[in-house]
Amino acid sequence: MGHKERAHALFGPSSAHRWLECPGSVLLEKGMPDTASESAAEGTLAHELAEMKVVNYFYPKEISKRKLNAAIKKMKENELWDDEMLGHTDAYIDYIRDTSLGLPSQPHMDAERRWDFGRYMPPGYEGEGYGTADCTMVQGSRLFVIDFKYGKSPAGRVSAERNPQMMLYALGAYEALKMLYPIKEARLAIVQPRLPDGISEWSCSIDELQEFGEHVREQAALAVSGNAGYSPGEDTCRFCRARSRCAARAEHNVKLAFSPDLGKKPPLISNGQVGEYLRLGAGVAKWLAELKDCALAECLAGNEVPGWKAVEGRSAREWTDMDAAFAILEKSGVAPEEMLWERKPLTLAQVEKMIGKKDFQDTAGSYVAVRRGKPALVQETDSREAITNKITAEEAFKEEK
Ligand code: SF4
Repeated sequence: MGHKERAHALFGPSSAHRWLECPGSVLLEKGMPDTASESAAEGTLAHELAEMKVVNYFYPKEISKRKLNAAIKKMKENELWDDEMLGHTDAYIDYIRDTSLGLPSQPHMDAERRWDFGRYMPPGYEGEGYGTADCTMVQGSRLFVIDFKYGKSPAGRVSAERNPQMMLYALGAYEALKMLYPIKEARLAIVQPRLPDGISEWSCSIDELQEFGEHVREQAALAVSGNAGYSPGEDTCRFCRARSRCAARAEHNVKLAFSPDLGKKPPLISNGQVGEYLRLGAGVAKWLAELKDCALAECLAGNEVPGWKAVEGRSAREWTDMDAAFAILEKSGVAPEEMLWERKPLTLAQVEKMIGKKDFQDTAGSYVAVRRGKPALVQETDSREAITNKITAEEAFKEEK
């Protein structure tokens, strides 16, 4: 089955962080449309390539080098293709290969296999607990679950530690393989090759995994009971299909925006309060933007949103036939080089993409300098190193000299 066509379970692992935290969301968002973004489509293409490469490595009879190359040739026709995908998927395969070579014997490997964890679902919903793991390996008493993530934003770095998505795959794989292997430990890894520190690993015992399974059972039962509560939060609500309409989220954000209780109110807020206001308000701006999109869609569909209406945005002129217009202008004496066309250099990234990384480095590499990025404010949990205005001992010494 193609990655794009994959069916999603009611209790899918990729949304587990949401439904475990906010069980009420399961019934609330049911039937609401999903909106896949372009970055999701790019990730799908990269996953397809990664899957073929990993199968080629373990089972070359199933996917030969020739078949892989033919598939890559076809993928290159996709408008979302970028040659960088080859290097990033190689980094993922390298991790899997290094892990497997470190084992006493060749592990059993499954790529893109669906694992069922229905036995941790409430009665009647056993068929709603499943998900497809990118790579699963088992060797002796160790079960490995490896996930490939194609995101490139450092803020989107995902940790493997107690990651519910990974733990659910591991639970499903354990249930399916426990009769064949004496599994005692689950090792979870997330490989995000587009990030500089893109590998996160965590392991747990099977007892710990099963304990988590019991928590899953409780939350899933609560979710379908009709009595589940809602727990709005920036991360929890991010991909919820009900996020624009959810009353709990609306109430939560209004409370945050207009009545945060930060204790006594002196005339000026302290740095501590600046940080706290920023943290509390981060989800509010996002929620307001999504609320606007929702209202616009309603107005365009002919429904009334009291106090609001849809109007035509700023118009822009465009040629109906640029070649014909330029021909007429040239005929009337307009010089094309000076008045119709401008010569603009390609960006550094465009040139590099066109001639390839290595040739670019060999020919023009010495003319490239890295300008430091503009300082940006991020949360403390971000993995990038903090920059500071404080002078280091080394710099102070240099100045003295
Ligand atoms: S928007 Fe947030 S609070 Fe509302 S149902 Fe979804 S996850 Fe829960």
